Amino acid sequence: MIFIVAYLPKHKDWGPADFMECEHCDRESYFVLRERWMEAQLFFLPIYRHQRMYFQECPHCGKAVNIAEEDWPYYKSLASLQNQFIAGSLTESEFEAKKEALKKP
Ligand SMILES: [Zn+2]
Repeated sequence: MIFIVAYLPKHKDWGPADFMECEHCDRESYFVLRERWMEAQLFFLPIYRHQRMYFQECPHCGKAVNIAEEDWPYYKSLASLQNQFIAGSLTESEFEAKKEALKKP
């Protein structure tokens, strides 16, 4: 019997999150929210994930700013709002109201 096993780095981009100035390149922009983890797979199906990392990354120079795990829900909600606003499903006033309702850690 043959088992196909893999152990791979995985990542997901959640879209734009905070608008801020980069400490490295001094440019202001929306940092990209990213999640990274290591994944064990059996027959190409994920069976175990660990070493999760959450961070925002400067789109110009790639400088990463780590996010604590307990702050992740806020940033994930913020990125979701940004994506809805960009897609046009939220007006600017709706977006600002929902953003204000989020409690920044
Ligand atoms: Zn930068």
